[in-house]
Amino acid sequence: MALAVKEVNALEPEKFQGEMPVSMTLDQAKEVLARANRMIANEGVLDAFGHVTMRHPTDPGRYLMSRSRGPELVQPDDIHEFTLDSQIIKPIEPRLYGERVIHGEIYKARPDVNAVCHHHAPSILPFCISGMELKPVYHLGATLGPAVPFWDSRDDFGDTTLIVAKPEEGASLAKAMGPNWIVLMRRHGATVAGTTLEELTFRTIYTARNAAVQIQAHVLGHVSPLTAAETEMAGEYNLRPGPVARAYEYWSVRLDKAEGTWTLAKPKTAAAKKRPAVKAVTKRKVKVKSKAKRSR
Ligand SMILES: [Zn+2]
Repeated sequence: MALAVKEVNALEPEKFQGEMPVSMTLDQAKEVLARANRMIANEGVLDAFGHVTMRHPTDPGRYLMSRSRGPELVQPDDIHEFTLDSQIIKPIEPRLYGERVIHGEIYKARPDVNAVCHHHAPSILPFCISGMELKPVYHLGATLGPAVPFWDSRDDFGDTTLIVAKPEEGASLAKAMGPNWIVLMRRHGATVAGTTLEELTFRTIYTARNAAVQIQAHVLGHVSPLTAAETEMAGEYNLRPGPVARAYEYWSVRLDKAEGTWTLAKPKTAAAKKRPAVKAVTKRKVKVKSKAKRSR
């Protein structure tokens, strides 16, 4: 069932949709993580596959991840706790994602990383397939960071299913990522990291957008990417709390609209209080629309 607006609002909406609380409970973390899965899917980066995780809010030796299902469908109850060896704390019947080690091994190798997204975005795949370098080509793409390394499963493991499922495969990928924020996986996809879930969401979405415009710009002619200094300066500028919160709120509202749970928050005026019947009709309409959307 889609998350109702009032349920989201019960968890401090101004922080929930924009700036999140610095510390949060496990239940709040499950809410925001489920929402981040759906938000990034709603922006076309994730589809039936891929996953978003975050480090446990109070135990850095664990991380949170959904059971196996399309990220666009993930709800708080789907989120479970895992050790950094990617073992579930409380075993469950439903299937788990096969590529858990991507996340666990990065959390192990990078204490500064608190959120990870693995995806196969259509705009990123041409880089993974061709080996062309992904570079920041406009200001918002600067969150790519100074370098985007490649990881090729063939180098260490030869022929495989290309699914990163063994701990040694995850560790090899984490090593290739090194101190960077994104690693391209040859013939597979990308893995992105962030110091927070909001930063990760920002970087994941704008990295995919940057990839798309880099390809389009090549069609038109010469591509002149940002310099190293521009990348550093613009990257820092983009990741200030203000821009990140603004983008996060935008994607959050777009998700609510897509899920049919969005209503414009208006201050109650004296005139509005005298027209309860009109308000009731409006609410009913929204509810019906929402149900119709979910039944598709
Ligand atoms: Zn994958």
